[in-house]
Amino acid sequence: MDVVCLDLEGVLVPEIWIAFAEKTGIDAFKATTRDVPDYDELMQMRLGHLDSNGLKLADIHAVIGTLAPLPGAREFLDDLRQHYQVIILSDTFYEFSKPLMAQLNWPTIFCHRLEIAADGSVTDYRLRQPDPKRASVKALHALNYRVFAAGDSFNDTTMLSEADAGFLFHAPENVITEFPQFPAADDYAELRAMIDEAAQAPRE
Ligand SMILES: [Mg+2]
Repeated sequence: MDVVCLDLEGVLVPEIWIAFAEKTGIDAFKATTRDVPDYDELMQMRLGHLDSNGLKLADIHAVIGTLAPLPGAREFLDDLRQHYQVIILSDTFYEFSKPLMAQLNWPTIFCHRLEIAADGSVTDYRLRQPDPKRASVKALHALNYRVFAAGDSFNDTTMLSEADAGFLFHAPENVITEFPQFPAADDYAELRAMIDEAAQAPRE
């Protein structure tokens, strides 16, 4: 049996924090790990901006609910799910992804959680585990699944290495150059053809 593991942001939906910054008009949310390399520092900063702007869970859902998946993403995913088991492996939070998951027909997603107080304010975040994408592929292997994976960025490369076949999708040039071992695709039909080809290889 084969499982396809897909990254979310940049592959099926826009970068959520950047889109959130644009929708709210609060530029501070545009900071990424490139600007603030320490992830905890970055997240504490984001939580601080949510708080100081009075943004609660309901506001987050309202803003993110106005975002749409990338063009063709839903059709790609719907068809892929008819032929493979598909799991989205993401470093986002359920509370952020939920409105987009609704538009993607509720695929299975493994990601992280925000902590929400009784009044709906966001108080903290909980990462599910360290190196979660690689750990998920390892766990699927332990369940005797063959795994094909696709992602667009550095946080996907351990998942791609661990998978039986790994592909870059919509990846920036510097990622493609640094990881030439992963075939790169830029449209869904091309990615689907790569997955289908990998699936035809006999199991080791
Ligand atoms: Mg991504």
